Amino acid sequence: MDESGTGPQRPVLPARVTGAPRTSLERLAEGNERFLETIAASPNEAGVAAALAIADPYAIVLGCSDSRVPPEAVFNETVGRLFVVRVVAHVAGRAEMGSIEYAVARWNCPLIVVLGHTQCGGIAAALDRLPPGADKPPDSASSMNLGTLVASVKSNLGWISSSASPDPWLYAVTLNVRRTIEQLTTWSPLLRGHVQAGRMAIVGAIYHVENGAVEFLEA
Ligand SMILES: [Zn+2]
Repeated sequence: MDESGTGPQRPVLPARVTGAPRTSLERLAEGNERFLETIAASPNEAGVAAALAIADPYAIVLGCSDSRVPPEAVFNETVGRLFVVRVVAHVAGRAEMGSIEYAVARWNCPLIVVLGHTQCGGIAAALDRLPPGADKPPDSASSMNLGTLVASVKSNLGWISSSASPDPWLYAVTLNVRRTIEQLTTWSPLLRGHVQAGRMAIVGAIYHVENGAVEFLEA
């Protein structure tokens, strides 16, 4: 709210950003204005503002960066309640595991969900043969960083026979979730200790982009 009390002040955008990048930036800024308007329209504006500043996550979600799978949206959760780490195909590198360990140490979160999803482009990029319906992934040879990421997913999947399952793509998504869970407990003594002591569970889940449903894996 600005000093005149007429509503949120429009943020100043960097002048160096022009063209398509500016269009995207303007859209983000307008979204934040609407967010601020929603707070200002609340009967208890101060209460809402105070709640926004409280971090009290009860679960950690390690998920894919895919724009269709924002954990707060698919679990219908509010600000402050989920500690989210997102990277393509939820690859658990040191930075991701360090982030998770931080949340466990800071808030004692009792649950980690590793959230894969159907139609995952990261999985498609790692499979040697594209599943039906998959968009052709960008050529990872043109980017060393993307190549490293795809190699991590490939190493999770190993060699998957096309007859491994009636749905090799879903099989690969599920296998990648299971491998990621193994890595969290193998490479992080902190997480392993919490799981072994019964203080925390790590659960795999698959989000189905076709219908919005999350399926939790038994094992
Ligand atoms: Zn994905």
